[in-house]
Amino acid sequence: MQHTTRPESRTSLAVVERVETLLLDLPTIRPHQLSMATMNGQTLMLVRLYCSDGTVGVGEGTTIGGLAYGAESPEGMKLAVDTYFAPLLVGADANHVPAIMARLNKAIKDNRFAKCAIETALYDALGHRTGLPVSQLLGGRVRDSLPIAWTLASGDTAKDINEAERMLAQRRHNIFKLKIGRRAVADDVAHVAAIKKALGDRASVRVDVNMAWSELDAQHGLAGLVDAGCDLVEQPVASVDALARLKGRYPIAVMADESLTGPASAFALARMAGADVFAVKIEQSGGLLEALQVAAIADAAGIELYGGTMLEGAVGTMASAHAFATFRTLQWGTELFGPLLLTEEILAEPLQYRDFQLAVPTTPGLGMALDEDRVQHFRRDRKRTSAVGVAQPAATAH
Ligand SMILES: [Mg+2]
Repeated sequence: MQHTTRPESRTSLAVVERVETLLLDLPTIRPHQLSMATMNGQTLMLVRLYCSDGTVGVGEGTTIGGLAYGAESPEGMKLAVDTYFAPLLVGADANHVPAIMARLNKAIKDNRFAKCAIETALYDALGHRTGLPVSQLLGGRVRDSLPIAWTLASGDTAKDINEAERMLAQRRHNIFKLKIGRRAVADDVAHVAAIKKALGDRASVRVDVNMAWSELDAQHGLAGLVDAGCDLVEQPVASVDALARLKGRYPIAVMADESLTGPASAFALARMAGADVFAVKIEQSGGLLEALQVAAIADAAGIELYGGTMLEGAVGTMASAHAFATFRTLQWGTELFGPLLLTEEILAEPLQYRDFQLAVPTTPGLGMALDEDRVQHFRRDRKRTSAVGVAQPAATAH
């Protein structure tokens, strides 16, 4: 028998030794108004996995408006991770991320956001162990930066126009998403038309209704939005059947967001040709690998792609950025502006937003480092040393 030498893996052995969860309360730059809630602060659930080789991976679970968006909250995620995830993680081979996730998915139903936080932390640790950025571990990036939309959600037309002008002047954003659905349809359409008229061809104007319209509202709304020069309408209605009926009826892109809860929902929606665009979110999808599956389903069905946000802080934003950087197509850019909505930095070095783009780091793991003093300062279970506001239960839908 011929003797062959097997190349040694360069990845060191590592098991998960300890799981740590933290709740951080961070204030926002202004109230953020959505059809279902107004958000004055954001709560991040951070999870850190300490591995036997000394690597540490960090992940984040964030929701919009506490329980206003879905069934998981940061507080609930912390409880779930501490009680049910941690015993399954401690002792696990940290190099085999999909195997760990398969085990978690078998033992724990739903809890997509918490699973996403854990998977992020596992890939971050693996990246530090191997010297590779998370995007390379996910199959390889096809872009090094991502277009970033900004959400205008002050609720006031003149304020929103001023905010958009500032963003254009700073070359930070030239894609604006308007949160509508709280007021009468005609008032919302007038608000959108005024903003688009002020910005003209200098910016793309899009709206997110967060399911607030009936199908009849949506027929009036979409017709008006076309006349206003709006490019895209995100989740105008709750029902996927109504969404499918609206698609193609007006010359405006219809995007699915809340209807997408992972690969199975993406497949069902693609099969019924229910949307022109998918807003992919790593947390809604149930993790990074699942988000890649949602994107693959969209690609196969000829559906265009957009990278969505749950208004994550820096950790969730970077995890999303690494996943979206691997998408073969990304026709509508992303909305990974979550960290810019917060007044406080928790990173040693801030993320690079410039020229309407967010840079995707090329350094190992997520490519960022937490500022430990800041993290400790904003922990909910620590007594505060300054007058920085305690976040209200957060709320805004994306
Ligand atoms: Mg949305």
